[in-house]
Amino acid sequence: VSAALHPSDDLLRAYADGRLPATPGLAVAAHLGACPSCASRVRQFEELGGAALLAEPGLAMASDALERALEGLSSPDAPAAKARSAGLPPAIGGARLGLRFRFPGGVWMAPILSPRSEGWRAVLVHAPAGAPLPVHDHSGAEYTYVVEGAYTDGGARYCEGDFAVADTHIRNHSLLVTAEGPCTCLIATQGRLRFRAPLSLIAPLIGL
Ligand SMILES: [Zn+2]
Repeated sequence: VSAALHPSDDLLRAYADGRLPATPGLAVAAHLGACPSCASRVRQFEELGGAALLAEPGLAMASDALERALEGLSSPDAPAAKARSAGLPPAIGGARLGLRFRFPGGVWMAPILSPRSEGWRAVLVHAPAGAPLPVHDHSGAEYTYVVEGAYTDGGARYCEGDFAVADTHIRNHSLLVTAEGPCTCLIATQGRLRFRAPLSLIAPLIGL
């Protein structure tokens, strides 16, 4: 499956330079695992960063963004289930999931735990064919990586491997899984996700 939707060059550059916080970096890392063209863009940016570093010895540029992202997400003393068991892409297989909350109808969601969230939240959301993904609003940036399956958002369609960016101040963001099969998404948002009732009552309990 080759992705149709990719992170912007600005975002890839921020990731390559280590300027992107670990939590949204996960969504980018997951996409890079599925998209050779973006992975090679990141390598180019890293090389440019390396060249700049050589030219300007005082400038600190990190090319180990993924390692640092994963390091920020894994802490050996936590009992949470390994993300691998939830079918996460290998690129982010080291991430840890919080308590998985199951809803009627086969929908579940689980926060991705990060001790260095820097104001971001990440959640893994799963829903069966034809079902709505849990509806939410958000006030900051939102990155969605489609781990499996496909969903529609208004008229747009998002498929496995795609990296979708939602603008800020989205109200009543509503996502519907397509009829072909179940869908799992990694969603990283800046600020808290704001779910509608009754989810709004539950979200704080599971760390969203
Ligand atoms: Zn890509």
